[in-house]
Amino acid sequence: MKAVVWHGKRDVRVEKVPDPEIVNPRDAIVRISSTAICGSDLHLYTGNVPRLAPGDILGHEFMGEIVDKGPEVKKLELGDRVVVSCVIACGACWFCQRGDFAACDNSNPNSVLADKVFGHSSAGLFGYSHMFGGYSGGQAEYVRVPFADVGCLKVPSNVDDDRVLFLSDILPTAWMAAENALITRGDVVAVFGAGPVGQLAVKCAFLMGARRVFVIDRIEERLQLAMTRAGAEPIDERTSDVLEVLDDLTGGRGPDACIDAVGIDGRGSLAAETYGRVKHAIGTDENGAALRASILACRKGGTVSVVGISTGKVDKLPLDVAFSKGLTLKMGQAHCQRYMRRLLDLVSGDSFDSTFIITHRLGLDDAAHGYDLFHRKLEGCVKVVMRTGR
Ligand code: NAD
Ligand code: ZN
Repeated sequence: MKAVVWHGKRDVRVEKVPDPEIVNPRDAIVRISSTAICGSDLHLYTGNVPRLAPGDILGHEFMGEIVDKGPEVKKLELGDRVVVSCVIACGACWFCQRGDFAACDNSNPNSVLADKVFGHSSAGLFGYSHMFGGYSGGQAEYVRVPFADVGCLKVPSNVDDDRVLFLSDILPTAWMAAENALITRGDVVAVFGAGPVGQLAVKCAFLMGARRVFVIDRIEERLQLAMTRAGAEPIDERTSDVLEVLDDLTGGRGPDACIDAVGIDGRGSLAAETYGRVKHAIGTDENGAALRASILACRKGGTVSVVGISTGKVDKLPLDVAFSKGLTLKMGQAHCQRYMRRLLDLVSGDSFDSTFIITHRLGLDDAAHGYDLFHRKLEGCVKVVMRTGR
């Protein structure tokens, strides 16, 4: 089959690789119809995630059809159309039973690697380095899905791929970002980052009762999109002092909640960025500009919700500010399976559209081009969706 294979920094290629096979009785094989490139893939693309190896197949946002299954897959039939959670979870361990699927104790066969870094391993992820299980990803024609009954959600045949594809990752992520922001009716929310996750987080924040949502970025077309399609009030960090503007817009109090939808590759001042890059290279620091800004901007007693991915240590975290303001900090990889079913109901109706973020539809063969466009934010690229051509 064809798959998107990582070879090194900014080097992904579409290559012929062996077809996946059933390894475990709870596995299914999915023939992919659509797959997307995520901001999290960019951290792999730029070489910021350790333990990725040349030859690894990328991709964790995908959907398709069940074409084979192991004998212990009970809820799925061949021919079922499914969208698959990026998080791999057993569904039975103490964490899964609590709904904390991203903390699954049984889905990372390389947990010893993760234990060394994090103390406790989190769940396995598709296409996301050997630290998270070394699973082949779904930017491919076929993929093996472990614990298929838990990770696959059946989708009706009358709903387009584009409408349900984001249930695999970024819509549950955006939802959890807003939920973790502890929004109550009438709140004012600031979302840092107007990428796909930020755009959807704006919409979820409104659904949870936010009265005003500000979005901060420096890419004009992304700010415009968040304004026209998600209803956010844009703040361009190139031309504004973001903290001052947020203070002014909230009567000097600050937003009730701030969402960091940026993560490790975020920008700060040139000096801070360079310093951050050097420290990241030697494994002791990362940029963290949006997290710092979120803490500094948030009102006293407010909440900072972090979904931007962190793979290193952040220094100069204004913990003193967070403490003196009495902030609540919540964060983490989305527990996708917890939210997928109810979000399917949401996207199946007419009132919630997540497809407005798709700017590029490509074939799988054009994956390298898609990565380049998305990474360099060229041609107004916000979200790339690839079809396998079947
Ligand atoms: P993206 O790279 O397209 O978007 C990030 C946006 O942040 C860009 O528009 C960029 O211009 C902006 N930005 C950079 N520095 C900034 C700063 N200091 N202040 C404000 N904006 C800034 O990525 P995406 O697909 O939207 O993903 C966003 C983040 O969410 C990534 O870190 C990704 O890894 C993470 N993510 C997490 C989960 C999870 O489960 N927690 C799931 C999916 C994605
Ligand atoms: Zn993702």
